[in-house]
Amino acid sequence: MAHLYESRKRILVTGGAGFIGSHLIDELLRDGHEVLCVDNLFTGSKQNIDHLHGQPRFEFIRHDVTLPLYVEVDEIYNLACPASPVHYQYDPLQTIKTSVQGAINMLGLAKRLRCRILQASTSEVYGDPTIHPQTEDYWGNVNPIGVRSCYDEGKRCAETLFFDYHRQHAVEVKVARIFNTYGPRMHQSDGRVVSNFIVQALRGEPITIYGDGTQTRSFCYVDDLVNGLVRLMDSSTDLIGPVNLGNPAEFTIRELAQFVLDETRSSSSILTQPLPQDDPKQRRPDIVLARAKLSWTPRVSLREGLKPTIAYFRSLIQPAVLVTSREYVAYDMAGLKAASAYPAGGQA
Ligand code: NAD
Ligand code: UDP
Ligand code: UDP
Repeated sequence: MAHLYESRKRILVTGGAGFIGSHLIDELLRDGHEVLCVDNLFTGSKQNIDHLHGQPRFEFIRHDVTLPLYVEVDEIYNLACPASPVHYQYDPLQTIKTSVQGAINMLGLAKRLRCRILQASTSEVYGDPTIHPQTEDYWGNVNPIGVRSCYDEGKRCAETLFFDYHRQHAVEVKVARIFNTYGPRMHQSDGRVVSNFIVQALRGEPITIYGDGTQTRSFCYVDDLVNGLVRLMDSSTDLIGPVNLGNPAEFTIRELAQFVLDETRSSSSILTQPLPQDDPKQRRPDIVLARAKLSWTPRVSLREGLKPTIAYFRSLIQPAVLVTSREYVAYDMAGLKAASAYPAGGQA
């Protein structure tokens, strides 16, 4: 529903050209707000926000959040950070800097503007969890020196910064712990399980299951997640979080592979590959807090959410482009290198 002019806000979304960020921007614009999208296009893309070209309430600045940012806004969603293991391990130091220095800059901005700021944290703060399902009061089981720690520890440190800016400077903060989310506009070669399986199935390539496929994840459709983020941002001042946002329906990776094969009607075979280091064995959010405080619950089942996601990937995959997924990764990593070398801070 469109807001009255008086209640219209100017909202900053960092990481807004990414998968979740671009859907969040669509929702905020639908709600009648003005949106400033800040992104260095490391893993995001202009295609994700192409449809907003000419929308007078939308602006884009190409900028790296590890550098200071002086703008005037009423609210900040801090999403800037690569999210897939392939992407965040590509340049681990930049990943930590984005989480930590990016959080400091965005919190400094929120402090100066006295505005609300929401952090997109992650279920990865729980690491390879020893309690199941994960509740917000669980402190986690994270390897501080492993290949995933640039992301996990970066996000944990960002949470610390959010709470310290709140305690020390009374900045109004909100912390969402997001569990595996999927949907249209995921990067087709980000290496995440949903995008990998769908692309492989559509290309008729083998579905790569890491390990024996008995590890579990809980998959949330992006529209549900965005709804949860907006509800958390709009919640009463005393609700700081962290709040788990995710779909508690839990599946083994092997079950997911079968769903994707069914929905794509693909005859791809299954190929077992080694399990990556520190791969969590199980993950399922306890969402009692989100249900109680935000009246939020995910609506879209995995089977239902896979349909538009598959349709999206189908539209990307042209039969004329005869390259394999592996070649796509190589091609896209070259693209990422170019993006990370880009002298950030420039205007698009
Ligand atoms: P994504 O990679 O599609 O989006 C991240 C965006 O941040 C990209 O557009 C990227 O270009 C931008 N970015 C990265 N580093 C930046 C920097 N230094 N300065 C400015 N922009 C930068 O990933 P996503 O899945 O949309 O994730 C969005 C947020 O949600 C991330 O913070 C991620 O950690 C969090 N999250 C996502 C999931 C998930 O399953 N998708 C789960 C948990 C948490
Ligand atoms: N900052 C920013 N925009 C602002 C205000 C601050 O990017 O509008 C950055 C600035 O780089 C600063 C950081 O946020 O270093 C932290 O700000 P804070 O006020 O907490 O600390 P200080 O200015 O003392 O470093
Ligand atoms: N995975 C898999 N095949 C793939 C990609 C991932 O079996 O092609 C597994 C991966 O080992 C993990 C799960 O799927 O157990 C989810 O991986 P993803 O990278 O999507 O997210 P995360 O590990 O961060 O939850």
